[in-house]
Amino acid sequence: MRRKIIAGNWKMNNNLNSSVSLINSISKKIQSKTCEVYVAPSFPFFTEIQKKCHLDYIKILAQNVSSFSKGAFTGEVSCDMLKSVGVNSVIIGHSERRNQFKEHNNILLDKIKICLKNNFEVFFCIGEDFKSRESRLEYSIIEEQLKNTIFQLTDIDLGKLIIAYEPVWAIGTGLTANHEQIQEMHKFIRDLFKNTYSDSKSSMLPIIYGGSVNSKNSEKIFQQNDVDGGLIGGASLISDDFINIINSI
Ligand code: PEP
Repeated sequence: MRRKIIAGNWKMNNNLNSSVSLINSISKKIQSKTCEVYVAPSFPFFTEIQKKCHLDYIKILAQNVSSFSKGAFTGEVSCDMLKSVGVNSVIIGHSERRNQFKEHNNILLDKIKICLKNNFEVFFCIGEDFKSRESRLEYSIIEEQLKNTIFQLTDIDLGKLIIAYEPVWAIGTGLTANHEQIQEMHKFIRDLFKNTYSDSKSSMLPIIYGGSVNSKNSEKIFQQNDVDGGLIGGASLISDDFINIINSI
């Protein structure tokens, strides 16, 4: 059985008080362990949030990490720093980091490498923009994104990897890829992994979907064969919505 994962990306929202009340509310409402649950708060709140989580159930996910191990890199947060507060899972390659902070393939590959060296779990985001989808280039874009990053690594522990397929045009826009588009792309991604690495390991790779998932569309999306959960932005900030999404898997 493949892992089932729901992760909430809180982005740069909430202060300490509202982050704590959000996690309190989520923790209280979570009923049964239908899947693995992660939340990605902002760095300064990790320790407080951890105290409020169902410890072995809700895990903390970092929204970012440095590609450097230590030193004079003002504003950066290293793997070692994250580990020291008990966090060892991180999102890499989110389209907001790619587009707004100009994180291109080389830096993403460096981040993946340093994370895997530190035994971190990597949620690696890939996805095409609207223009590419319109020009029917979505499959080649996805292939390129993987070829220039993860597929450079021949000796990779796929057990530490989660792929998040997030079409950029669906992130925060209210537009969602339909479930057929999602399934086709997830299968395509899995097949790329099978062609690059072993068939059995790629069959077990969790591939989650992100892009305006909400409590109304999540069930249908999660029913697709190659969809193993979701990376949730906006809807993860509302505890009832996030819980309903978790319960729909
Ligand atoms: C995201 O930022 O990863 C995301 C999927 O956001 P939203 O759910 O708001 O589209």
